[in-house]
Amino acid sequence: MTLTLHNTLTRARQPFEPLDPSNVRMYVCGPTVYDFAHIGNARPVVVFDVLFRLLRHLYGEDHVTYVRNITDIDDKINERAAESGEDIRDLTTRTAAQFHKDMAALNALSPSIEPRATDHIPHMIAMIERLIGLGHAYEAEGHVLFSVQSDEGYGVLSGRSMDEMIAGARVEVAPYKKDPADFVLWKPSTPDLPGWDSPWGRGRPGWHIECSAMGEAHLGETFDIHGGGIDLIFPHHENEIAQSSCTHGGAPLARYWMHNGFLSVEGEKMSKSLGNFFTVNELLEDWPGEVMRYAMLATHYRQPLDWTNDGLTQAKQSLDRIYRALRALDDVEADEAEVPPSVLGPLTEDLNTPLALTALHDLTTECNKAEREDDKGRFKGELLSAGRLLGLLQEEPDQWLKSKVRKVELGLGEAFGEGVGPDSILDDADIERLITKRINARKNKDFAEADRIRDDLAAKGIILEDGPEGTIWRRG
Ligand code: AMP
Ligand code: ZN
Repeated sequence: MTLTLHNTLTRARQPFEPLDPSNVRMYVCGPTVYDFAHIGNARPVVVFDVLFRLLRHLYGEDHVTYVRNITDIDDKINERAAESGEDIRDLTTRTAAQFHKDMAALNALSPSIEPRATDHIPHMIAMIERLIGLGHAYEAEGHVLFSVQSDEGYGVLSGRSMDEMIAGARVEVAPYKKDPADFVLWKPSTPDLPGWDSPWGRGRPGWHIECSAMGEAHLGETFDIHGGGIDLIFPHHENEIAQSSCTHGGAPLARYWMHNGFLSVEGEKMSKSLGNFFTVNELLEDWPGEVMRYAMLATHYRQPLDWTNDGLTQAKQSLDRIYRALRALDDVEADEAEVPPSVLGPLTEDLNTPLALTALHDLTTECNKAEREDDKGRFKGELLSAGRLLGLLQEEPDQWLKSKVRKVELGLGEAFGEGVGPDSILDDADIERLITKRINARKNKDFAEADRIRDDLAAKGIILEDGPEGTIWRRG
């Protein structure tokens, strides 16, 4: 099966041909660690996690290297530490640990390598020295700047003309810049700020050079895929390309550039002032991580994604349906099945996750209809392997369907009106006891009693479904 990917560089969908199929290499810009990750930050993590899983599936688990950096030196970090008085290293370590926890809750695998910028300062200094030596960078007032005029290819990724780029550069242009579009590779640090000794005095790196140096250190001069959010195309990725290709005699930095679309919330740009700013951590209090992941994958990665309560509710219902099908097959041994082409195919077409999710539902329908044991085993196996590829269905069905209980309890007052307090909440054991009572009533042909139990449960939001495997229940 051929993998095709949309390449921002060529503005076209292209067949993916890795430089070395025994080591497919991907770099994705990681977080700047000074605060909780918001739900927009999670989008590239989830999108490129699907690609990482897909590449591992196609080329083998040991044949993919995924690097996602941690930016732990940045002005925003310095500002935050100065405000709170927290030690910078403590702030970045704590925030990075929180990021790991939140992303793991979204079923994102750890990348193969997660370099920290501050562990690569000598590498950055060496790269800057090479750029100066080659005439692509110059020192001015303790700063080192990249000279965009020295790079014929500058603008290749964003497709912007030099005039547009200058207009986009900061309004206030530093007097020491030869060209307004020149950007910082190194800048001086005051004694109260983090700094490293360098040929240009004590200072710290600019953001763009961090990724160029970490990419080179871990993936070499040219690698296969470079990813990030669409906002990073210019200037960050344009500048990464300029720095790396000029250091490497024109060799491209990456052959395929991929960018995820932006995420808005209920139709508006997410912002603290609008009150629609959500961290992953706080959303996880209300929604299982898998629901959040599903909601993300329901939109194609290149499209803008509107994060809504309705979308989350639908994602929850969709997952519940699949988990119910799996629970009904609890006693069936799953086959060691391949991911079915109906799911794999769309993923290989520029990560068409919405279509893959539709196929997952069709498979669920097959599961629900299956009568023969071998069909059940096959469909169950296919569902599970498709789920693994998408990073979904990682919970035990029973646990998943019961875990909903807690969520529903939180909203019971509203859902059931006044007077229905927590006292009337039935726990799992109560429900199962009543179901057994109802089964016995039916066995005794006391259908009135059986119906009464079912209606009582329904009044409390407990829905029973009688199927060939017996009665299953859920909180509606
Ligand atoms: P930052 O920490 O701002 O450098 O962002 C980290 C990653 O999150 C980058 O790849 C950004 O492109 C991405 N990102 C930030 N905000 C959003 C958003 N609202 N929607 C999608 N991606 C975003
Ligand atoms: Zn980067």
